[in-house]
Amino acid sequence: MELTLYNTLGRTLQTFKPIKPKEIYIYACGPTVYNFAHIGNLKTYINEDILKRTLRFNGFKVKHVENITDVGHLVSDEDTGEDKMELSASKEGLTIWEIAGKYTQAFKEDITALNIQFPNVWCKATDHINEQIELVKKLEELGLTYIIEDGVYYDTSKFSDYGILGGQKLEELQAGARVQLAEGKRNNTDFALWKISPKESKRLMEWESPWGVGFPGWHIECSAMALKYLGEQIDIHCGGVDHVKVHHTNEIAQVEPVTQKKWVNFWFHVEFLNEKDGKMSKSKGEFLTLSLLKKKGFEPLAYRYYVLNSHYRSKLNFSFEALESARQGFSNLIDKISLLKADVAPGEVAHAQLDDIHLNINTIINKDLNTPELMAYMWKVIKDQSINVQTKLDSLQYFDQILGLELLKIEAKKEEDVEVSSDLQDLLDKRNEAKKLRDFKTADALRNEIQAQGYAIIDTKDGAKLKKL
Ligand code: AMP
Ligand code: ZN
Repeated sequence: MELTLYNTLGRTLQTFKPIKPKEIYIYACGPTVYNFAHIGNLKTYINEDILKRTLRFNGFKVKHVENITDVGHLVSDEDTGEDKMELSASKEGLTIWEIAGKYTQAFKEDITALNIQFPNVWCKATDHINEQIELVKKLEELGLTYIIEDGVYYDTSKFSDYGILGGQKLEELQAGARVQLAEGKRNNTDFALWKISPKESKRLMEWESPWGVGFPGWHIECSAMALKYLGEQIDIHCGGVDHVKVHHTNEIAQVEPVTQKKWVNFWFHVEFLNEKDGKMSKSKGEFLTLSLLKKKGFEPLAYRYYVLNSHYRSKLNFSFEALESARQGFSNLIDKISLLKADVAPGEVAHAQLDDIHLNINTIINKDLNTPELMAYMWKVIKDQSINVQTKLDSLQYFDQILGLELLKIEAKKEEDVEVSSDLQDLLDKRNEAKKLRDFKTADALRNEIQAQGYAIIDTKDGAKLKKL
């Protein structure tokens, strides 16, 4: 079935075509591990998980590589300022390696709690310093770099496609870029490939290189590791929208002149989760984490449910009120499913109906990962009186292959008596009478009437009971 995805490269919805017939190669920018992930970061990983699950739903194998940035980014994106990892190490009184270990572990726990499937390969920047140096050497051989006092820089004016991803020409980018901060930079958009450590200070993380002791610039790791694990061409590269204009633009500039090939077919970018006062960001200091949500009584999967109620390309403005209403919705869903599971007369699965549901799920999600529509459709199926309980239960496995809300793990509710109004009891008595008289037509009509009021009839050895649908 046709799968349509929005491609930042070209800014249009496009039909997805894999490079290899059966296996899709995905690279996703991973976390910078100097602090906990905030719930905005986690939104991006939830949406990327939906992408992967959708590809699998469509019968593809997926190879997913994700980096762990455990080498310091500088506080500002302009290659200056303090190193975030070093700053965090000194604040917490830990070594930089301990900081990286602590927050990598915390990140893995968060994504496990959110039922996000792990990548096939996690790769740490510090384990791939040689690959990064080698790539910088290749760029140097191609004449794309220059050296100034604090490092090796990429000369963006030498790459004719620079800025193609953000849909801007180099001149426009130059005009928009912030003031040039490093002394000697030729163009505002030039960026560091290798930073040389200042002579007077010893950094906690630094390595030998042909240009002197130092550390890699913050864009080179993704290019080097993607090339190592996925080869010269990949199907999809993912990240948050903040990465379009700088990080991913620079990643392309680092790869395509070396391979002389189009590197990435689809660029998949997730819109931001914002707070009332603007975007959520780690460097602001205070931010919302998954543990904080847990402390406030919100289950991680309720957060996942909240995120999936909006489209990945829409900005999501966070509020606790909206999260609370998603939590309610999720809890109602669990109640409904557990009642379905408790049904003692679920009926036989209706295969044709189940196939239709499967097809509808596929059609909805293949339209640029429309999770809000898929959630609405799931509710429609659950409430649909013309679908029997067993068919509904079987359909949940399909919904959950994509949504990943652990719907199949929900337990059946213990038998409970429902309070029945006298009108309903009347209908039930009439239906029982009709059944006794073998007037099945009337009995069926009464059953439908009862169902229309939201109740199922369960025939037990102690007589017919009603159960809320
Ligand atoms: P970082 O750990 O800062 O490198 O970010 C990890 C991922 O989260 C990247 O793909 C970012 O683009 C993404 N990201 C950062 N801030 C937000 C936000 N407020 N909402 C959604 N995604 C974000
Ligand atoms: Zn990256």
